[in-house]
Amino acid sequence: MRLDRGQRLVIATHNAGKLAEFARLLAPFGLDCVASGTLGLVAPIEDAPDFAGNARIKAMAAAQASGSWALADDSGLLVAALAGAPGVRSARFADEAGGYTQAMAKIIATTRSDNHAAFACAICLAGPAGQSATYIGYCHGTIADAPRGIGGFGYDPIFIPLGQSETFAEIGKARKAAISHRGRALRQFVAAHFV
Ligand code: IMP
Repeated sequence: MRLDRGQRLVIATHNAGKLAEFARLLAPFGLDCVASGTLGLVAPIEDAPDFAGNARIKAMAAAQASGSWALADDSGLLVAALAGAPGVRSARFADEAGGYTQAMAKIIATTRSDNHAAFACAICLAGPAGQSATYIGYCHGTIADAPRGIGGFGYDPIFIPLGQSETFAEIGKARKAAISHRGRALRQFVAAHFV
């Protein structure tokens, strides 16, 4: 499955932060990227137990509804002290806590003795004829003692990637893309689908 310059690719996400990261990372390839929200596509129910399954549900639904190739990701934060939670429920965990400020405070409170964590991201490319390919990237790190930084989105202010002293919200977009779970999954996707 090779993607060519000028080809339409639907980015199946309603998350503005993720959309901006995808657009930035895919810019060099000259695709005609359009967000699923712009096309008025309805987000499907994400009921798979893992990131890869949910990414596939979203990409397949967007490809079928639009008749174009579609890219979707599913990602989340895995906290060791919470046995891998919130994981695929990361967005809902924030909703249920009343927002990211409260969700981050809850996570910090659980990580006093073990602060290890990782972000995971599955990316799925799906075609209108039902084809699909999925790639997974991880970024390991620790949870900070308190939120730091104003860049990024979601849980970025509390995640310190391994080998860094700053959080994802402090390191800037370019450095985040170089080491993030989404950047790593996306580079596998690029290696597989662009010549
Ligand atoms: P999804 O849209 O179902 O993939 O939900 C992803 C969830 O994980 C959201 O709550 C995001 O805030 C969180 N998340 C995923 N990737 C990142 C990231 O790079 N930084 C911060 N939070 C992230």
